[in-house]
Amino acid sequence: MAEKPRFTSIATKFSVFTAVLVFWVVAVVLAYDYSRENFSAGKAVLLMVVLFMVAAAISRFTIRLLVRPLAYLQEGIQDLEAGRLRQIRVSRTHDEIEYLGQSFNAMVASLAASRAEVQEHRELLEQRIHERTEALDQALQSALSSSQVKSEFLANMSHELRTPMSGVIGMLDLVLDTPLQLDQREHLRTARNCALSLLALLNDILDLSKIEAGRMILEEIPYDIRELVSDCARTQLALASNKGISLRWNAAEDVPGRMVGDPLRLRQILANLLSNAVKFTASGEVVVSVAVRRRPERAARPWDLIIAVRDTGPGISPEKVETIFEKFTQADGSISRRYGGTGLGLAITRKLVEVHEGDIQVVSEMGQGSTFTVIIPADARAAAPEPEAAARPARGIAGRGPVLVVEDNPINQKVVTAVLRKRGYAVDVAVNGQEALDALARQTYALILMDVQMPVLDGLETTRRIRRNPQFRDLPIVAMTAHAMNGDRERCLEAGMNAYLAKPVDHTHLLALVERYIAVASGTAPPERIAAPADDPARRASRLVDADPSLVGQMMQLFLQLAPERIDRLRHAAEAGDGELLRSDARKMQGAAQSIAAHEIVAAAARLDEAGARADWEAAHESLKQLESSVLQLRDRTQSTVT
Ligand code: ADP
Repeated sequence: MAEKPRFTSIATKFSVFTAVLVFWVVAVVLAYDYSRENFSAGKAVLLMVVLFMVAAAISRFTIRLLVRPLAYLQEGIQDLEAGRLRQIRVSRTHDEIEYLGQSFNAMVASLAASRAEVQEHRELLEQRIHERTEALDQALQSALSSSQVKSEFLANMSHELRTPMSGVIGMLDLVLDTPLQLDQREHLRTARNCALSLLALLNDILDLSKIEAGRMILEEIPYDIRELVSDCARTQLALASNKGISLRWNAAEDVPGRMVGDPLRLRQILANLLSNAVKFTASGEVVVSVAVRRRPERAARPWDLIIAVRDTGPGISPEKVETIFEKFTQADGSISRRYGGTGLGLAITRKLVEVHEGDIQVVSEMGQGSTFTVIIPADARAAAPEPEAAARPARGIAGRGPVLVVEDNPINQKVVTAVLRKRGYAVDVAVNGQEALDALARQTYALILMDVQMPVLDGLETTRRIRRNPQFRDLPIVAMTAHAMNGDRERCLEAGMNAYLAKPVDHTHLLALVERYIAVASGTAPPERIAAPADDPARRASRLVDADPSLVGQMMQLFLQLAPERIDRLRHAAEAGDGELLRSDARKMQGAAQSIAAHEIVAAAARLDEAGARADWEAAHESLKQLESSVLQLRDRTQSTVT
């Protein structure tokens, strides 16, 4: 900032000027007297005194008329500079100085008025901005909620559409199993393929809308990423070798043997990328590589799991790379004619990656190929010796062929598959009867473990359909049922099942039954129907705890993860007064709680079931409250044992 120039006061200047004037007048008068030779010291002194008095009067007058008003003005200007709009004192001199002061005050007054006006405008503007922001916020909220409603509608619709689709496919399968003329068989096969692609599309839409409606919940369960990649790649091997391209997969040495996360969703991500790579590549190779990177700065999920799928396909042009992750987008119009597809695969893949808070990137060069890389934050279990490896005394059994577990409840799925895998069995899982029929069409199984109550196609009907095919007349089917008391056992046997197991499944009994029935089927043991002894569920659960504490820990986690959604469903059923739904959900909850020996939750769910039967909604709400608080207590207990 420039330095202010220094001013000497007007008063000082006047005083100096007057003093010089006085001396000059005295000197002139004295010099005149001296030349006339009548110089008198007395006269000189008198003259001096008079002149001094006159000078003092002039000086005082000047200060009052000029200096003081100017000082006021200066103060006013300084205030103005500092942003203070203050009126100054105006000296009544009735001249230009007074006019100057009044003008200054008038200017300050008009400045103050315009400042107030600006302030008012600013406040108005701020209020407008605030109102606009609120309106925009509301618009955004309603857009979001309508998008949520749309996604939920889509999710429900595609779910509903899947049921008749499964019926169509099932019926076509049935007709295809009967004697047919060649062209009839061809037509039906075409119809079946169309129905399957429609079902795949419905599944895609269901997935996408589930994610968009925020209804996709990720699991936290251990899995072997090498196994997962190899499983996925194997499903594409036949197609790849038919096209004459090589398909390879590898994992870096430092990739932990056990990662923790949602293997199902990861499988979906990889399957989408792999099927695209194989679909679009005409020659050369497709390679999947897995690597990890430590991210110690992250307390949760301190690994980056990096999966890259590289192909030597046609590549994607830079301008298309931007859009291929959007819904229903294909790189060019001829794609769907040449390769089929809907343009949903990569949209789902990206959403799934986003749900994981991960990242997906693609590097591609036209004519050279593309590499899709997925980076997903993950957890890993300490590289302890694989418990399975130690507990595999019956490895030899693995050679006898895989077991198909048909079960929609993830906890039961986990228990049964874990127990079987531990014994060295290869296990496939189908989540409903229709999937089981599809799996049977693809692969031969040594035995099926079949849940009874399932969506889409229940265990009884599935078994009847399987038995209609003479090829599966001797295939052992063991029911897993939660209600051994109410005639389910008879219904299972009538439908054509060989045996039944009560839930929660006792692992020793399960293994005994599976081994026995596989032996029966292979002709090494006498055929006989075996039923589970009526056993106390709590005892079975605690035996399971003894057998594998880590498994129970995982089940507990899974139970706690699923609990809020289940409680929500129960609450909706209770609020809607839907007794049937309430009872069936309450029983599911009861079964799940039994498998982790959570007695209080079992009891509360049982009371809820009874309340549903009596249509006693007050009791239902009460039991629901107890159930909720028991779940919270269980969560607290689990957390306090973990930390
Ligand atoms: P779909 O495969 O059903 O057409 P996607 O969403 O999986 O839908 O893929 C969108 C588009 O991205 C594809 O139509 C294709 O044009 C392009 N694309 C995806 N993967 C590849 C790949 N590996 N090589 C070349 N183009 C690809």
